[in-house]
Amino acid sequence: MDNYLYEYDGKLYINLTNECSNDCAFCVRNTSDGVGGYFLWLKKPPTADEIIKKLEETDLGKYREFVFCGFGEPLCAFSELVKVGEFLRAQGKRVRLNTNGQARLIVGDNAAERLKNAVDTVSISLNAPDAKKYNAVCRCAFGDDGYYAMLEFAKQCVKCVDRVILSVVDTIPQEDIEACRKIAENMGAEFRVRKYEA
Ligand code: SF4
Repeated sequence: MDNYLYEYDGKLYINLTNECSNDCAFCVRNTSDGVGGYFLWLKKPPTADEIIKKLEETDLGKYREFVFCGFGEPLCAFSELVKVGEFLRAQGKRVRLNTNGQARLIVGDNAAERLKNAVDTVSISLNAPDAKKYNAVCRCAFGDDGYYAMLEFAKQCVKCVDRVILSVVDTIPQEDIEACRKIAENMGAEFRVRKYEA
């Protein structure tokens, strides 16, 4: 059976899709079939109603956060993301979206606005200080526009979502980490350096 919900470190993760507009060199999908012992390739992506039914049967109080982060880009299943996120937020739960941020190209112009009642935190993979370096590792299907769309989405999220985090993986050069930190600070977002896990 498909694992579209999985527990990890006291949080419940929601695996909406295996689609993604990037092909990152560091993506866990290149080296593993899942996370935390859960097989995360999906035979069929879940509908929002299927996920909500599962959540209704689950003791939600066990989890300190609910995270849209699976074996693919959650924005590729945007309607499900919004509906499930709004269901959880209506119950006062903390909800985070982990994303590549290419919302304009995947969803359209007003994605940040449409997410404001569905998530309280958006964590965006910044990954590099410019489009050329970004695409050297993320190999975006949209080319350089993927990087610019990600920056636009981050700025929009800062205006309408409680918490916005831009992150990089700790394998990039220190000078690039510092340049990325500045991008995040100038935008009014938090900055995080993620540990690379092969
Ligand atoms: S954006 Fe995320 S899911 Fe997509 S290829 Fe990169 S690491 Fe993998």
